[in-house]
Amino acid sequence: MPNPGSKTRAVHGGERPNPITGASAPDLVMSTTFAMDEPAGFSINAFEGEVPYIYTRWGNPTIKMLEGKLAALEGAEDCVAFGSGMAATSALLLASLKAGDHLVISDVNYPGTAELVRDTLANYRIRSTAVDTSDLGAVESAITPATRMIWIETPANPILRLTDIAAVSEIAKRHDLTLAVDSTFATPIATRPIELGADYVVHSLTKYIGGHGDALGGAVLGSRDHIEPLRTHALVYFGGVLSPFNAWLIARGAATLPIRMQAHEEGARLVAAFLEDHPAVKRVNYPGLESHPQHELAVRQMANCSGMLSFQVDDGAVVAKRMAESLEVIHFAVSLGHHRSLIYWIDTDDMLATSFKLTGTQAARYREFAGEGLFRLSVGLEDATDICADLDRVL
Ligand SMILES: *Cc1c(COP(=O)(O)O)cnc(C)c1O
Repeated sequence: MPNPGSKTRAVHGGERPNPITGASAPDLVMSTTFAMDEPAGFSINAFEGEVPYIYTRWGNPTIKMLEGKLAALEGAEDCVAFGSGMAATSALLLASLKAGDHLVISDVNYPGTAELVRDTLANYRIRSTAVDTSDLGAVESAITPATRMIWIETPANPILRLTDIAAVSEIAKRHDLTLAVDSTFATPIATRPIELGADYVVHSLTKYIGGHGDALGGAVLGSRDHIEPLRTHALVYFGGVLSPFNAWLIARGAATLPIRMQAHEEGARLVAAFLEDHPAVKRVNYPGLESHPQHELAVRQMANCSGMLSFQVDDGAVVAKRMAESLEVIHFAVSLGHHRSLIYWIDTDDMLATSFKLTGTQAARYREFAGEGLFRLSVGLEDATDICADLDRVL
């Protein structure tokens, strides 16, 4: 079919009935090695073009099925899956950059990414400048002759700040840089960065795409020319391979991604409106609220506002303790994008001391969204009225 809709892609992308058994559901192939008809080389470099199934670190039918489904959802030519979102992130960064190169990166993003870039990549003499990527002038002026890549995350964890992908892609193209977008919070149902000019899309599959909190995974998507070297080098040598069992679980989750995202957004809109009206709540960050400072960009760039929001209250640390002890529906836990609602307390001083280490002006801009700290809430698929009642009781 020439141009199937996203629900059809989610269900059928990458899959087909087994041609021998007729099995309608995808096979789970746990085999690490594959019997061969004739001797072949012992290096991935011995093969030209598509590598046959030889060893699961090089390729596996169940992982390939998931990669096909993700590429179909994202509108990408190719996809390579990894054992976690951080395995995908570190593989892409280490394969794209070498000693002496420079990276421009969002000053607020997933803390693991911030710490990897600032501390680990610096040890390999890969330098970086962290800027507020919602400020296009700041992105442009951070670029140096050594810059090779721009890395953005939109919406950014945990303040839900957005970056205009098309505008940053225009800057990247003008300076001959590659643009990578961590689109974990948005998912391909909200935003397809490749269609907006990005070179790479990165996902933690552990979150919305898997959707059920039972499998770690990650992926990088892009053109065949961009993904092929990642598969043969970053995946095969760094070895951050996804388990076929996790690939199978994540593919099962991904089949319902479009309808889950509709339900997550519907719930999040109700919970965001409830919190915005709540006397104990000082501020709510949700791209779907008109009060979000970039609501206009959200409408333009996000076909779905996702289920992630964050909010501030007075005495957040005390409320966090009460939540951990007495929430009944929502789990007080890290992670996000699962069918179960999850909430976590993110103290601003802690975050600025350990992960983001921002300059005075940058920290002031972070505090505009985060105040002294915020609750990051991943609105799950329970009844929104029950989620609101659970919050109301502890607030
Ligand atoms: C969770 C997350 C990651 C890391 O993914 P893991 O699967 O936990 O390794 C990266 N980016 C974002 C935005 C995330 O939420």
